Amino acid sequence: MRLKNIDDSYIDSSVTLHGWIKKIRKLGELIFIDIREQTEIFQLRIEQTNSSLFELVSTLKNQFLIEVEGVVKKRKEINSEINNGHLELFVSEIKVISSSNSLPFIIEDKTDALEQKRMQYRYLDLRRPTNFKMLKFRSDVYRFFRNYLDSQAFIEVETPAINVPTIGGSKELLVNSTNFEDSNYTLSQSPQVYKQLLMISGVDKYFQIAKCFRDEKARSDRQMEFTQLDIEMSFTTEDEVKSLVEGMLQKLFTELLSFELPTIFPKIEYKDAILKYGSDKPDTRFDYLIEEVKKEKLLEQSSNPFLKKFANQFLFSLKLPIVLSTSKLKKYVEKAKSENELLFWVKKEKGTISSSLKPLEETFINSLEINDNEIIFFNFKATKEPMFLGRLRVELAKEFDLISSKERFNFLWVEHFPMFTIEDNVIGASHHPFTAPLDENFFNEKNIEEIKKYDSKSYDLVLNGNEIGGGSIRINNPKNQRFIFEKLGFSDKEINYYIGWFLEALSYGTPPHGGIAIGIDRLLAIMLNKETIREVIAFPKTSKATDELTKGPYKKNDKI
Ligand code: ASP
Repeated sequence: MRLKNIDDSYIDSSVTLHGWIKKIRKLGELIFIDIREQTEIFQLRIEQTNSSLFELVSTLKNQFLIEVEGVVKKRKEINSEINNGHLELFVSEIKVISSSNSLPFIIEDKTDALEQKRMQYRYLDLRRPTNFKMLKFRSDVYRFFRNYLDSQAFIEVETPAINVPTIGGSKELLVNSTNFEDSNYTLSQSPQVYKQLLMISGVDKYFQIAKCFRDEKARSDRQMEFTQLDIEMSFTTEDEVKSLVEGMLQKLFTELLSFELPTIFPKIEYKDAILKYGSDKPDTRFDYLIEEVKKEKLLEQSSNPFLKKFANQFLFSLKLPIVLSTSKLKKYVEKAKSENELLFWVKKEKGTISSSLKPLEETFINSLEINDNEIIFFNFKATKEPMFLGRLRVELAKEFDLISSKERFNFLWVEHFPMFTIEDNVIGASHHPFTAPLDENFFNEKNIEEIKKYDSKSYDLVLNGNEIGGGSIRINNPKNQRFIFEKLGFSDKEINYYIGWFLEALSYGTPPHGGIAIGIDRLLAIMLNKETIREVIAFPKTSKATDELTKGPYKKNDKI
C-alpha cells in the first residue's frame, strides 16, 4: 500500500507498506524508523520483544527500500508537521526490497550538498521532497495549460524536432544521420515556421508544449534545450494575444499559488523601457528610474578638460537611496571603464557631498537634488541606451533590498521592439524575421537608415525583470517576407534555397496571424522561487552545458 493512501480508516488494520528509510532512532527497548515515499513520511514502531526484528534493524541503513507488515495504531505523541503524524505502524515483519550504497549526500530538503554532486546523483536529489513537489508542480502546470487552451478551442499539434535551418534566427544544433553522408538536418530552434504553416492549413488556434534547441554559448541561466508553451492564432491582434495570456496566467496563479494577478498587465513601449530602465526587460518591482540629464550644465561649467571628450554624448543619471563605500564605488567605475563607459558618482553622507569626478563645479553639484544617504550615478553614452545604469539599478536594488516584497509576481508587457537591431555592425531581426512592422510603409522604404527606424508589432512578456515570453503579429505575404530577408542581407539565391518553400507556402491564401511563446522553465523557476532554471528541470545540464550525471558530452573520436 502507498503511504499517501493511509488514513484513519486503517486504524487497527493490518497493512503492508513500503518506503525508503529516512531515519532510524533507537530508544533502548524501542526502535522507530521513519520511512518516506515522495513527500509522505510514516513512522514504524518496533518493540524489543520482537528480537529477530531488532537484529534485522541493525543491518538497515538510510535509503534502504523496505517492505513492512504490521497494524496501524494511533500514536501517543503526535507529530503535527507531517501527514498522518498521529498514526504509526506496529511492525511485525520487515523485508529489504533493495539495499543502498552509502549516500553521497543527505537526502533531505535542507542540504548543503554542492550542486555538482546533486546533479551527478540527480536521481537521489530528486528523492528530496522539495524536488518531487517541483516535478508535480511542473506536471500540474502542463495539465493546466492543456485544459485551459482546450477550453478556448485551441488544438495541440506536434511539429518536428528534426528540422532545416531557419535563416535569420538563432544558431542551430546539427543532426548528423547515416541516412545522409553530406547533408544534415538541424534541431528545431522553435516551431515558428511550422506553427505559421498550420495557420495556412486552416488550424486557426494552435498550441504545443514544445522542446526547442539552440546552439548558444553556455550561460548560467540557459540550457541548449528548453521548453516553450507555443501558441499561434489566425485573424488575431496584439491585444487579443495579450489578453489570452493574461487570462490564462491569472487563472494559473490563482489555482496553483492562490495569488491574484491583475486582470490587465501593465505595458511599456520598448523605447521607454530602454530610456527609463536601461533594459528591454525592466524590473518594475521598484522605482528609481534612469533620467536623461542636461549635460550642458556639467560640460560648460566644468573645468575638467577630460569631460570635453563626451560633448557629443548623452548623459544619464540614476539616483539610489543607498550608502556605498568609496572603494566599492571605485569598482563600479572601473567596471564601466572596462566596458568603455564613463561612469561617475556623487554621494551625500552625514551632510557631506563627495564625488568620483574632480573637480566637479559647485554650481553643478548645487543643481542636484540629493539627500543624505543617497548616491547619484552619472553615465555618458553615445546612444540613448543607458544599459550599464540599467544593470547597476537591478544589481544594487537586489543587494540593498529595494524591491518591495508585496510585488511577488510583477508582470509587464514590453511592446514594439524595433524591426531590426544592429550588433557589431551586423543587422539582425530584433524578434525574428517573420515579425510584421507597425507601419506598412516599412515595405516601401529603400533606405536602410530609414528602415532601421521602424518598430514592429512585437511584445515580450516580462516577469520580475526576466523575459519569460515573446511573440508578434506575423508577415502574411511572400513579397513582404522576401523584403525582410533581403534587408537582412540574404541573396536571392540564399533566400530561394533556404526559405523559398516557406515563401511559396505564404502565397496560398495565408490568413493574418500572430502568436507568442512562453518559456516554461523560467516561468516555473520564478513561480517556485528557485535560483536557476536548473532547479525546475528534471535532468538539467550544468551552466557549462555539461551533464554531470551521464558525463556528457562524449568525445567525438573516443575509442573505448
Ligand atoms: N518562436 C518565437 C520564439 O521562440 C516566439 C513567437 O514569436 O511566437 O521566440
